[in-house]
Amino acid sequence: GLANRLQSVFSKLRGKGKVSEDDVAEAMREVRLALLEADVNFKVVKEFISKVKEKAVGQEVMSSFTPGMVIIDIVNKELTELMGGTQSKLAKASKPPTVIMMAGLQGAGKTTTSGKLAKLLLKSNHKPLLVACDIYRPAAIKQLQVLGEQVGAPVFSMGDGVSPVEITRNALQYAKDNHNDYVIIDTAGRLHIDEALMEELKQIHELAKPDEVLLVVDAMTGQDAVNVAESFHKQLELTGVVLTKLDGDTRGGAAISVKAVTGCPIKFAAMGEKIDSLEPFHPNRMASRILGMGDMLSLIEKAQSNIDAEKAADLERKMRNAEFTFDDFLEQMAQVRKMGPLDQLLDMMPGMNKVKGLKDLKVDERQLARVEAIVRSMTSEEKQNPDLLNHSRRKRIAAGSGNSIADVNRLIKQFDDMRRMMKQFSSMMSGPKGKKGMK
Ligand code: GDP
Ligand code: MG
Repeated sequence: GLANRLQSVFSKLRGKGKVSEDDVAEAMREVRLALLEADVNFKVVKEFISKVKEKAVGQEVMSSFTPGMVIIDIVNKELTELMGGTQSKLAKASKPPTVIMMAGLQGAGKTTTSGKLAKLLLKSNHKPLLVACDIYRPAAIKQLQVLGEQVGAPVFSMGDGVSPVEITRNALQYAKDNHNDYVIIDTAGRLHIDEALMEELKQIHELAKPDEVLLVVDAMTGQDAVNVAESFHKQLELTGVVLTKLDGDTRGGAAISVKAVTGCPIKFAAMGEKIDSLEPFHPNRMASRILGMGDMLSLIEKAQSNIDAEKAADLERKMRNAEFTFDDFLEQMAQVRKMGPLDQLLDMMPGMNKVKGLKDLKVDERQLARVEAIVRSMTSEEKQNPDLLNHSRRKRIAAGSGNSIADVNRLIKQFDDMRRMMKQFSSMMSGPKGKKGMK
């Protein structure tokens, strides 16, 4: 999948300074193939690639990053943007009830999603009414009634002898009389889009003037889902899309192209047959799911928001030259504390959990104050040159900071470990010296 492809290409991208055109070209070849494989519309892929290229080439590579990480970050942001950027909320009528019309092909998941949506609304203290307008499919009404009972929402139906428009008219009146603030209209579907179906949906639309027209599409159908969305949108003015069956073996293509092709935001994602498997759609979460790099992405985010780039660069230079001092140690601990536990952080990085000696290197929050006291009891000469710390100096520091010699020894050992680990870390992240862009 996309994740594997990206992992392998990004791990090859090393080097410092700026992201090169070669780095980007190599990464984009893989991204392009992976997106096409995921059944994303080819026009969407083309535009996406050119956008990422434009943003990535020439980007500064922060000192603790690789060009690969910089590109992942841009791919992730653009992917999020492609799927609508931010989460698109359900519309609300200025005067209740808010009317939601569900549409879609047969088997897409309209009826199931109607029930799930009612459940979500009930959870936030609303009073939804489900309306059974599929009078064609045998047992469709019963299916909705069962779902309604399951979630605890009333179901309005008039059997299969009355037209869907008539049912809708009566349901709206019922909702007014019973103070239902949401009305969810479950409509019929066909295996393919046809005139009669569209005509019926248009009539319901005209009468109900829905605040939301949600097209329910099966994510498993990939590119077809997008085509269906496009044709429905031409006829019905959709306000949003619900992607169902994201729990299956979907390649994610529909999620990526639907917004780009139709302009309709994806508002909900359904990930299972269970009644509580409907969630508001979050483009950023979907992007990291598609990339399969949730951990890496959250690491990049953390690093970006917490580490001052210049300080990090300075620190790295010092570590390379083995100039890492106790002052830097204190500084580093403070930075790490802002990000969360060091071991957890390193666990998230591919390959880092294999670095030797990392396990014993835990930054204990409660110990930090003690560590600070010890370091502050050192002379500035000692802080700059830890090799000076012989036994008598350690004894003095222990007494001065109110700790035992064992504590001081432990800290110095920890410092040495850290210095060693930092060296490994920095060579891992930058690759062999002088071989920028090594392939
Ligand atoms: P409708 O014809 O559009 O009303 O579709 P239904 O709501 O009757 O759903 C068709 C089938 O898809 C049913 O068997 C549902 O249980 C199943 N289904 C609906 N949504 C999901 C989903 O998110 N995941 C999975 N795995 N199955 C779903
Ligand atoms: Mg149905």
